[in-house]
Formats: sequence, structure tokens, C-alpha cells
Amino acid sequence: MTAVLTVLGPDGPVQQPVEQPVLRADDLGVLRGESVFETMRIAAGRPAFVDAHLQRLARSAERLAIDLPPGVEGLVDGYGFPDGVLRIVCTKGGTAYALATPVPEETIRGRQHGVRAITLTLGVPAGLRPQAPWLLGGVKATSYAVNMATLRHAHDEGADDAIWLSTDGEVLEAPTSTVAWVQDGVLVTPPAGEVAVLPGTTVAVALGLLTTPYEIRRGSAEELRAADEVLMLSSVRGVAPVVELDGRVLGTGPLTARLRDAFEAELLR
Ligand code: PLP
Repeated sequence: MTAVLTVLGPDGPVQQPVEQPVLRADDLGVLRGESVFETMRIAAGRPAFVDAHLQRLARSAERLAIDLPPGVEGLVDGYGFPDGVLRIVCTKGGTAYALATPVPEETIRGRQHGVRAITLTLGVPAGLRPQAPWLLGGVKATSYAVNMATLRHAHDEGADDAIWLSTDGEVLEAPTSTVAWVQDGVLVTPPAGEVAVLPGTTVAVALGLLTTPYEIRRGSAEELRAADEVLMLSSVRGVAPVVELDGRVLGTGPLTARLRDAFEAELLR
């Protein structure tokens, strides 16, 4: 499968070669990083959990004062390949497009064999970003340079991924995933609104599939490091076990494995 690019034109979505330019040089999405995006999984030929992604896209756009163009939802249709990643991008300059690409091998490996993660600071107290909406905590804007730099730092340290902590030692999220952990059979994940992390579509689906108890509450780095299981959840990787955290080997726990399999099955329903 090669990449498929669909641009939202005045008469609706139009496919065009990926090599063809899409953005204007003066688009604030490029000049200032003022664009919003969503990444969803294409499974069994269909983009998954589309409504949740489109709702979050609209919320992100509102926070950046971006007017979503009419018909943006039409970008999720018509890909015709079984598995992949679908990104929708809407810029402040008014351009909207969708890019469908294969799922990277590394992502599939992470889901199957787990990821080795380290904790890194995000440099803010956990309660700050909800009080400071201009910091855009919990908004899916394309200004992901900090997220990517965090991942590069983790790679330089020999890890696959990172988990952000607040300066007061609370668990926040990962640069491209929601974080959860399991202690004594209870799955715990931080409340997105209270600590201004992205409200994950994957964790929302996963919690609905759980047959065991869960808690949505704040938690400390100590709690995370002492957990029986640690998980990362995101649209494309799905439910991935954190098999090593800050050098402590955890392996793939039973609840994580069950939830990962249940989530993969749900995608195909
Ligand atoms: N947190 C951040 C910062 C993310 O970028 C993502 C992934 O997009 C998530 C959490 C998980 O969100 P979702 O499960 O909707 O993919």
C-alpha cells in the first residue's frame, strides 16, 4: 500500500498525488503551528471510532480559533485498503486534507511485544495547565515538536517511549499515548480534564471493554513505578504493554494482554 492523499476542495474531497503540494506558504498552520489534527486507525477497511475523533477535532479547532471547513467529515471516506493510519489535518489557513499511510512496523511491534519507557518531566505542575488554557494542554494541535523531541530524547536514552511527569511528581501522559497502570487488579488512568492531557479515544473504548474495576484519578510517579502493569493506549498502536519502566522489567501483564486483544477485536466489529 502506498500513501493516499485526499484534499478537501470547494466541491468536496479530491484525491491527488502525495508529491503534489497542498499548503500555501503563508498558512498560519505552517508559520505558527496553528493547525489541528486527528490520527485514527483504519481497520478492516474502515477508519475506527470516527465520531469520537471528529468531535475531538472540533474541540481542538475551537481552542485554536480555527474554523473547520464544511464537509471535513467527508475526508474519512473512501480509502479501500484494509489496515492503515489516517491523519486528518485542518490548518488555520483553511486547508483540510487526509493522509492515509501504512501502519509502521515499529508500531505493530510495540503492540505485540511491548515498549520500554522512561519517565521524563513535562516541566509543569499537574494542576497548572487546566488553569492556563493558553498552554493548550489536552489540545491536538500540530505543534508536536516538543512531543517529538521527548521521543527522540527517550530513544537517545535507549528507550522506545516516554511518560511525562509533572514537576510535582504526577503521571500525565505520553507524547503520543494515554498512560494507565494496574495495581491489585484495578486499572488506573489520570483524569484528562483535571491534569489537561489529551482525552484519549482509545482509553475511552478500552474502559468500556474492561470487565474488571478501574479508577480515573490522579496518581504519582512512585505509584506508577510500583505498579503491577503499565500500559500505553493510542489509536494506531492500540493497547501496548510497557514491558520496562525506568529500567524495571515488568513484562506483559495479564490484564494488559486481555485488554489489548479485546481492543483489537472491537476494531474489527
Ligand atoms: N495523548 C497524546 C499527547 C496523544 O498524542 C495521543 C494520541 O493521539 C493520545 C494521548 C491518545 O489518544 P487516542 O487514544 O485518541 O489516539
